[in-house]
Amino acid sequence: MRFENVYLYPMNIIKNIRSLKKSLPSKVELVAVSKTKPIEDLETAYTAGQRIFGENKIQEMVSKWEQLPKDIHWHMIGHVQTNKVKYMAPFVHLIHSVDSLKLLKEIQKQALKNNRIIRCLLQIRISKEETKFGLPFEELNSLLETSKSFPNIAISGLMGMASFTGDKQQIRTEFMSLAALFNKVTDLHKGCEILSMGMSGDYEIAIEEGSNMIRVGSKIFGERTY
Ligand SMILES: *Cc1c(COP(=O)(O)O)cnc(C)c1O
Repeated sequence: MRFENVYLYPMNIIKNIRSLKKSLPSKVELVAVSKTKPIEDLETAYTAGQRIFGENKIQEMVSKWEQLPKDIHWHMIGHVQTNKVKYMAPFVHLIHSVDSLKLLKEIQKQALKNNRIIRCLLQIRISKEETKFGLPFEELNSLLETSKSFPNIAISGLMGMASFTGDKQQIRTEFMSLAALFNKVTDLHKGCEILSMGMSGDYEIAIEEGSNMIRVGSKIFGERTY
């Protein structure tokens, strides 16, 4: 037993959410990132009033959606394989991680089948790490233009992940570059209102740089054991 891990106890999920929410400016939405966590933990967060949950695997999100109350907003934050879009198309509230035309096309197709408009964020590569997904800055404009021909897709903003580094200045610089891009885009594209940036380790910097949606997992639910 590891007593030092205070996050093991569900009461702390409630406390974590309450204190996090209290510290956030009112314009900042909190996505509780519940990937790998059991249903009970999500129920606890729900009890604390949390209604937005973020998952990075489609099957896991579908399974949790089936089991939990239907007023939850499910956000897909992980890399999406086109062949799985159909499983989440009936209910997903926001897809944070759109980074290709191929994926947009598939979302359009599945959204139409479900007679819905699916809200999407375009994920921009702001980190220099090769492993991170996302569109290069230069490709944003053409994808935004193309998206206008997809009636069942609403591009609602941008998402980015900063480098995994202890260098706070680098993280800040990356968030600043995304915020600058976002500000340009919002002027030109109506409905582009969400800037999703910031996780447990860097959300404070992200908010200082203009984020209005943060995706926080371990700071609410404790460390993940994969
Ligand atoms: C896992 C994940 C998060 C949350 O990470 P924490 O460090 O646990 O807060 C946020 N965004 C994305 C895209 C993730 O995959």
